[in-house]
Amino acid sequence: MKRILIIQTGGTIAMQIKDSAGYTQTSPHPSDFLENRIPELSGIAHIEIIDLFFKDSSDMNPADWITLAETINENYTSFDGFVILHGTDTMAYTASALSFCLNNLGKPVILTGSQIPMAVIRSDASRNLINAIEMATMPLNEVAICFNDHIFRGNRSTKSSAGDFDAFSSPNYPPLADIGLNISLNYQITPSPAKFGITPGFDNRVFLIRLFPGLNPDNLLKLIGPDIRAIIVEAFGCGNFPGSGRHSLLPFFEKCLEQDILLVIGSQALQDAADLSKYESGRMAQSLGIISAGDMTTEASLTKMMYLLAMHDNHLAVRDLYNRPIAGEITVKS
Ligand code: ASP
Repeated sequence: MKRILIIQTGGTIAMQIKDSAGYTQTSPHPSDFLENRIPELSGIAHIEIIDLFFKDSSDMNPADWITLAETINENYTSFDGFVILHGTDTMAYTASALSFCLNNLGKPVILTGSQIPMAVIRSDASRNLINAIEMATMPLNEVAICFNDHIFRGNRSTKSSAGDFDAFSSPNYPPLADIGLNISLNYQITPSPAKFGITPGFDNRVFLIRLFPGLNPDNLLKLIGPDIRAIIVEAFGCGNFPGSGRHSLLPFFEKCLEQDILLVIGSQALQDAADLSKYESGRMAQSLGIISAGDMTTEASLTKMMYLLAMHDNHLAVRDLYNRPIAGEITVKS
Protein backbone atom coordinates (compact mmCIF):
# COMPACT_ATOMS: atom_id res chain seq x y z
CA MET A 1 0.00 0.00 0.00
CA LYS A 2 1.27 3.49 -0.92
CA ARG A 3 2.46 5.76 1.90
CA ILE A 4 1.00 9.26 1.78
CA LEU A 5 2.00 12.18 4.00
CA ILE A 6 -0.69 14.78 4.68
CA ILE A 7 0.75 18.17 5.58
CA GLN A 8 -1.70 20.47 7.33
CA THR A 9 -1.24 24.22 6.80
CA GLY A 10 -4.76 25.44 7.64
CA GLY A 11 -7.38 27.23 5.56
CA THR A 12 -11.13 26.79 5.65
CA ILE A 13 -10.78 23.01 5.58
CA ALA A 14 -9.32 23.19 9.10
CA MET A 15 -11.65 25.88 10.45
CA GLN A 16 -14.80 25.74 12.55
CA ILE A 17 -18.01 27.72 12.45
CA LYS A 18 -17.59 30.89 14.52
CA ASP A 19 -21.16 32.10 14.33
CA SER A 20 -23.84 32.04 11.66
CA ALA A 21 -21.76 34.31 9.45
CA GLY A 22 -18.16 33.23 9.64
CA TYR A 23 -15.43 30.70 10.22
CA THR A 24 -12.60 30.69 12.73
CA GLN A 25 -9.20 29.08 12.76
CA THR A 26 -9.61 26.71 15.72
CA SER A 27 -9.14 23.33 14.26
CA PRO A 28 -10.12 19.84 15.11
CA HIS A 29 -7.05 17.68 14.78
CA PRO A 30 -7.25 16.52 11.17
CA SER A 31 -6.43 12.95 12.11
CA ASP A 32 -9.57 12.88 14.32
CA PHE A 33 -11.51 13.94 11.28
CA LEU A 34 -9.86 11.37 9.07
CA GLU A 35 -10.35 8.53 11.53
CA ASN A 36 -13.91 9.43 12.50
CA ARG A 37 -15.39 10.67 9.26
CA ILE A 38 -13.71 8.77 6.46
CA PRO A 39 -12.46 5.41 7.70
CA GLU A 40 -12.38 4.28 4.03
CA LEU A 41 -9.18 6.29 3.59
CA SER A 42 -7.21 3.50 5.22
CA GLY A 43 -8.23 1.38 2.23
CA ILE A 44 -6.62 3.84 -0.23
CA ALA A 45 -3.25 4.41 1.41
CA HIS A 46 -1.22 4.28 4.57
CA ILE A 47 -1.57 7.85 5.83
CA GLU A 48 0.50 9.92 8.21
CA ILE A 49 -0.14 13.54 9.13
CA ILE A 50 2.05 16.49 10.02
CA ASP A 51 0.34 19.55 11.50
CA LEU A 52 2.76 22.14 10.15
CA PHE A 53 0.62 25.16 11.00
CA PHE A 54 -2.97 26.37 10.99
CA LYS A 55 -3.13 29.59 9.00
CA ASP A 56 -5.63 31.39 6.90
CA SER A 57 -3.73 31.19 3.62
CA SER A 58 -3.91 34.97 3.26
CA ASP A 59 -1.31 35.02 6.05
CA MET A 60 1.06 32.74 4.20
CA ASN A 61 4.28 34.10 2.75
CA PRO A 62 7.47 32.84 1.09
CA ALA A 63 8.90 31.68 4.44
CA ASP A 64 5.96 29.24 4.67
CA TRP A 65 6.61 27.99 1.12
CA ILE A 66 10.19 27.27 2.20
CA THR A 67 9.00 25.42 5.33
CA LEU A 68 6.73 23.33 3.13
CA ALA A 69 9.51 22.55 0.65
CA GLU A 70 11.82 21.56 3.51
CA THR A 71 9.13 19.32 5.03
CA ILE A 72 8.67 17.53 1.71
CA ASN A 73 12.43 17.20 1.32
CA GLU A 74 12.87 15.74 4.82
CA ASN A 75 10.13 13.17 4.18
CA TYR A 76 10.74 12.57 0.50
CA THR A 77 12.20 9.09 0.69
CA SER A 78 9.71 7.83 3.31
CA PHE A 79 6.54 8.55 1.33
CA ASP A 80 5.15 7.87 -2.14
CA GLY A 81 3.13 11.07 -2.34
CA PHE A 82 2.21 14.23 -0.45
CA VAL A 83 -1.12 15.97 0.17
CA ILE A 84 -1.03 19.56 1.41
CA LEU A 85 -4.16 20.86 3.13
CA HIS A 86 -4.22 24.56 2.37
CA GLY A 87 -6.55 27.55 2.25
CA THR A 88 -7.89 28.25 -1.19
CA ASP A 89 -7.10 31.98 -1.25
CA THR A 90 -3.38 31.66 -1.95
CA MET A 91 -3.23 27.97 -2.88
CA ALA A 92 -2.27 28.76 -6.49
CA TYR A 93 0.66 30.91 -5.28
CA THR A 94 1.94 28.14 -3.00
CA ALA A 95 1.49 25.50 -5.71
CA SER A 96 3.38 27.66 -8.22
CA ALA A 97 6.18 28.45 -5.77
CA LEU A 98 6.61 24.78 -4.84
CA SER A 99 6.65 23.73 -8.48
CA PHE A 100 9.72 25.93 -8.97
CA CYS A 101 11.69 25.04 -5.85
CA LEU A 102 11.08 21.26 -5.78
CA ASN A 103 13.61 20.16 -8.38
CA ASN A 104 13.35 16.88 -10.30
CA LEU A 105 10.16 15.97 -8.51
CA GLY A 106 9.41 12.28 -8.97
CA LYS A 107 6.29 12.01 -6.80
CA PRO A 108 2.88 13.70 -6.59
CA VAL A 109 2.48 16.78 -4.40
CA ILE A 110 -1.25 17.53 -4.30
CA LEU A 111 -2.75 20.63 -2.72
CA THR A 112 -6.35 20.63 -1.65
CA GLY A 113 -8.70 22.40 0.73
CA SER A 114 -12.37 23.18 0.90
CA GLN A 115 -14.85 25.98 0.59
CA ILE A 116 -16.74 24.84 3.73
CA PRO A 117 -14.97 23.60 6.90
CA MET A 118 -14.65 19.85 7.17
CA ALA A 119 -16.60 19.85 10.41
CA VAL A 120 -19.73 21.14 8.60
CA ILE A 121 -22.08 18.51 7.22
CA ARG A 122 -22.34 20.05 3.71
CA SER A 123 -18.60 20.42 3.43
CA ASP A 124 -16.74 19.65 0.25
CA ALA A 125 -13.72 18.63 2.37
CA SER A 126 -14.05 14.88 2.35
CA ARG A 127 -14.59 14.66 -1.42
CA ASN A 128 -11.60 16.89 -2.07
CA LEU A 129 -9.47 15.04 0.44
CA ILE A 130 -10.35 11.58 -0.88
CA ASN A 131 -9.63 12.68 -4.46
CA ALA A 132 -6.37 14.31 -3.43
CA ILE A 133 -5.17 11.25 -1.54
CA GLU A 134 -6.11 9.00 -4.42
CA MET A 135 -4.25 11.30 -6.86
CA ALA A 136 -1.23 11.22 -4.54
CA THR A 137 -1.03 7.44 -5.04
CA MET A 138 -0.84 7.83 -8.84
CA PRO A 139 2.12 8.12 -11.21
CA LEU A 140 2.16 11.90 -11.35
CA ASN A 141 5.38 13.84 -10.78
CA GLU A 142 3.69 17.21 -10.46
CA VAL A 143 2.69 19.82 -7.94
CA ALA A 144 -1.06 19.85 -8.58
CA ILE A 145 -4.26 21.31 -7.19
CA CYS A 146 -7.09 18.84 -6.68
CA PHE A 147 -10.45 20.49 -6.09
CA ASN A 148 -14.08 19.67 -6.83
CA ASP A 149 -13.34 16.66 -9.03
CA HIS A 150 -10.65 18.52 -10.98
CA ILE A 151 -6.92 18.12 -10.93
CA PHE A 152 -4.86 20.89 -12.45
CA ARG A 153 -1.15 21.56 -12.77
CA GLY A 154 -0.52 23.82 -9.77
CA ASN A 155 1.39 26.51 -11.62
CA ARG A 156 -1.38 26.73 -14.25
CA SER A 157 -4.17 27.11 -11.69
CA THR A 158 -5.94 30.16 -10.41
CA LYS A 159 -8.69 30.68 -7.86
CA SER A 160 -11.62 31.70 -10.00
CA SER A 161 -14.56 31.48 -7.60
CA ALA A 162 -14.85 32.57 -3.98
CA GLY A 163 -18.30 31.13 -3.43
CA ASP A 164 -18.64 28.06 -5.61
CA PHE A 165 -17.41 24.54 -4.89
CA ASP A 166 -15.66 24.78 -8.24
CA ALA A 167 -13.06 27.22 -6.92
CA PHE A 168 -10.17 26.68 -9.35
CA SER A 169 -9.61 26.76 -13.04
CA SER A 170 -6.66 26.22 -15.35
CA PRO A 171 -7.30 28.67 -18.18
CA ASN A 172 -4.37 27.74 -20.41
CA TYR A 173 -3.62 24.11 -19.68
CA PRO A 174 -5.83 21.00 -19.72
CA PRO A 175 -6.59 19.04 -16.52
CA LEU A 176 -4.02 16.41 -15.56
CA ALA A 177 -6.77 13.81 -15.12
CA ASP A 178 -10.52 13.37 -15.44
CA ILE A 179 -12.02 12.54 -12.08
CA GLY A 180 -15.40 10.85 -12.45
CA LEU A 181 -16.59 7.36 -11.67
CA ASN A 182 -13.01 6.42 -12.46
CA ILE A 183 -9.87 8.51 -12.57
CA SER A 184 -8.17 8.63 -15.94
CA LEU A 185 -4.85 10.39 -16.22
CA ASN A 186 -4.38 12.67 -19.25
CA TYR A 187 -0.75 12.62 -18.51
CA GLN A 188 2.36 10.78 -19.50
CA ILE A 189 4.80 10.62 -16.65
CA THR A 190 8.32 11.62 -17.63
CA PRO A 191 10.92 10.13 -15.31
CA SER A 192 12.88 12.81 -13.46
CA PRO A 193 16.30 13.18 -15.03
CA ALA A 194 18.20 13.72 -11.82
CA LYS A 195 17.98 13.32 -8.06
CA PHE A 196 15.25 15.20 -6.21
CA GLY A 197 16.36 18.27 -4.31
CA ILE A 198 15.11 21.68 -3.27
CA THR A 199 16.29 25.22 -3.98
CA PRO A 200 14.07 27.08 -1.55
CA GLY A 201 14.51 30.79 -1.95
CA PHE A 202 12.16 33.60 -2.93
CA ASP A 203 13.08 37.26 -3.19
CA ASN A 204 10.07 39.41 -2.39
CA ARG A 205 11.56 42.60 -3.85
CA VAL A 206 8.92 42.40 -6.57
CA PHE A 207 5.76 44.33 -7.24
CA LEU A 208 2.56 43.66 -9.14
CA ILE A 209 0.68 46.44 -10.92
CA ARG A 210 -2.79 45.92 -12.37
CA LEU A 211 -3.43 48.62 -14.96
CA PHE A 212 -6.67 50.57 -15.20
CA PRO A 213 -7.77 53.38 -17.48
CA GLY A 214 -6.70 56.65 -15.87
CA LEU A 215 -3.79 55.24 -13.83
CA ASN A 216 -1.52 58.19 -13.04
CA PRO A 217 2.06 57.11 -13.85
CA ASP A 218 3.42 59.62 -11.31
CA ASN A 219 2.02 57.41 -8.56
CA LEU A 220 4.24 54.57 -9.75
CA LEU A 221 7.51 56.51 -9.52
CA LYS A 222 7.74 55.84 -5.77
CA LEU A 223 8.29 52.18 -6.58
CA ILE A 224 11.63 52.85 -8.17
CA GLY A 225 14.40 52.19 -5.68
CA PRO A 226 16.57 49.47 -4.17
CA ASP A 227 13.63 47.62 -2.58
CA ILE A 228 12.22 46.60 -5.96
CA ARG A 229 14.09 44.33 -8.39
CA ALA A 230 11.20 43.43 -10.71
CA ILE A 231 7.70 44.62 -11.55
CA ILE A 232 5.02 42.45 -13.10
CA VAL A 233 2.46 44.50 -15.00
CA GLU A 234 -1.00 43.06 -15.53
CA ALA A 235 -1.77 44.91 -18.73
CA PHE A 236 -4.82 44.87 -20.98
CA GLY A 237 -5.63 42.23 -23.59
CA CYS A 238 -2.52 40.97 -25.40
CA GLY A 239 -0.31 43.01 -23.07
CA ASN A 240 -1.36 46.50 -24.11
CA PHE A 241 -0.86 49.64 -22.01
CA PRO A 242 -1.16 53.40 -22.48
CA GLY A 243 1.73 54.33 -24.73
CA SER A 244 0.92 57.95 -25.56
CA GLY A 245 -0.42 61.09 -23.90
CA ARG A 246 -0.17 62.01 -20.25
CA HIS A 247 -1.06 58.54 -19.03
CA SER A 248 1.66 56.89 -21.08
CA LEU A 249 3.58 54.35 -19.04
CA LEU A 250 6.60 54.45 -21.31
CA PRO A 251 8.52 57.11 -19.29
CA PHE A 252 7.94 55.05 -16.14
CA PHE A 253 9.10 51.88 -17.85
CA GLU A 254 12.21 53.62 -19.16
CA LYS A 255 13.06 54.88 -15.65
CA CYS A 256 12.65 51.36 -14.25
CA LEU A 257 14.95 49.90 -16.89
CA GLU A 258 17.56 52.64 -16.25
CA GLN A 259 17.59 51.47 -12.62
CA ASP A 260 17.98 47.82 -13.69
CA ILE A 261 14.44 46.93 -12.55
CA LEU A 262 13.13 43.99 -14.57
CA LEU A 263 9.73 44.51 -16.17
CA VAL A 264 7.30 41.76 -17.14
CA ILE A 265 4.06 42.36 -19.00
CA GLY A 266 1.21 39.88 -18.60
CA SER A 267 -2.48 40.12 -19.31
CA GLN A 268 -5.55 40.77 -17.19
CA ALA A 269 -7.38 38.33 -19.46
CA LEU A 270 -7.33 34.90 -17.86
CA GLN A 271 -7.24 32.97 -21.07
CA ASP A 272 -4.56 32.94 -23.78
CA ALA A 273 -1.25 34.72 -23.74
CA ALA A 274 0.26 38.17 -23.67
CA ASP A 275 1.61 38.81 -27.17
CA LEU A 276 3.73 41.93 -27.30
CA SER A 277 4.23 41.74 -31.05
CA LYS A 278 0.58 42.43 -31.85
CA TYR A 279 -0.06 46.10 -31.02
CA GLU A 280 1.99 49.28 -31.01
CA SER A 281 2.46 49.59 -27.23
CA GLY A 282 3.55 45.96 -26.97
CA ARG A 283 6.06 46.42 -29.76
CA MET A 284 7.48 49.46 -27.96
CA ALA A 285 7.77 47.36 -24.80
CA GLN A 286 9.58 44.66 -26.75
CA SER A 287 12.02 47.16 -28.20
CA LEU A 288 12.81 48.37 -24.66
CA GLY A 289 13.59 44.82 -23.57
CA ILE A 290 10.48 44.25 -21.44
CA ILE A 291 9.69 40.57 -20.88
CA SER A 292 6.37 38.97 -21.84
CA ALA A 293 4.65 36.71 -19.30
CA GLY A 294 3.33 34.61 -22.20
CA ASP A 295 0.45 32.44 -21.02
CA MET A 296 1.54 32.19 -17.41
CA THR A 297 -0.96 32.88 -14.65
CA THR A 298 -0.16 35.92 -12.54
CA GLU A 299 0.54 33.56 -9.64
CA ALA A 300 3.14 31.69 -11.69
CA SER A 301 4.73 34.77 -13.22
CA LEU A 302 5.11 36.43 -9.81
CA THR A 303 6.44 33.40 -7.89
CA LYS A 304 8.73 32.45 -10.80
CA MET A 305 10.24 35.93 -10.68
CA MET A 306 10.67 35.71 -6.88
CA TYR A 307 12.33 32.32 -7.33
CA LEU A 308 14.68 33.37 -10.14
CA LEU A 309 15.69 36.57 -8.32
CA ALA A 310 16.62 34.51 -5.27
CA MET A 311 18.74 32.22 -7.46
CA HIS A 312 20.49 34.93 -9.48
CA ASP A 313 21.90 38.36 -8.62
CA ASN A 314 22.38 39.07 -12.29
CA HIS A 315 19.23 40.47 -13.90
CA LEU A 316 20.38 39.53 -17.38
CA ALA A 317 20.42 35.89 -16.29
CA VAL A 318 16.90 36.22 -14.85
CA ARG A 319 15.71 37.86 -18.05
CA ASP A 320 17.15 35.02 -20.04
CA LEU A 321 15.60 32.30 -17.89
CA TYR A 322 12.20 33.86 -17.39
CA ASN A 323 10.55 32.60 -20.59
CA ARG A 324 12.00 29.12 -20.30
CA PRO A 325 9.76 26.59 -18.57
CA ILE A 326 10.90 25.33 -15.19
CA ALA A 327 7.91 23.12 -14.39
CA GLY A 328 5.55 23.38 -17.35
CA GLU A 329 4.22 26.79 -16.28
CA ILE A 330 4.50 28.43 -19.71
CA THR A 331 3.75 27.31 -23.24
CA VAL A 332 6.77 27.69 -25.47
CA LYS A 333 5.90 28.61 -29.02
CA SER A 334 7.55 26.28 -31.50
N1 ASP B 1 -9.54 32.32 3.76
C1 ASP B 1 -9.43 30.90 3.53
C2 ASP B 1 -7.97 30.57 3.27
O1 ASP B 1 -7.50 30.74 2.18
C3 ASP B 1 -10.28 30.51 2.39
C4 ASP B 1 -10.33 29.03 2.10
O2 ASP B 1 -9.60 28.22 2.61
O3 ASP B 1 -11.18 28.64 1.27
O4 ASP B 1 -7.28 30.17 4.16
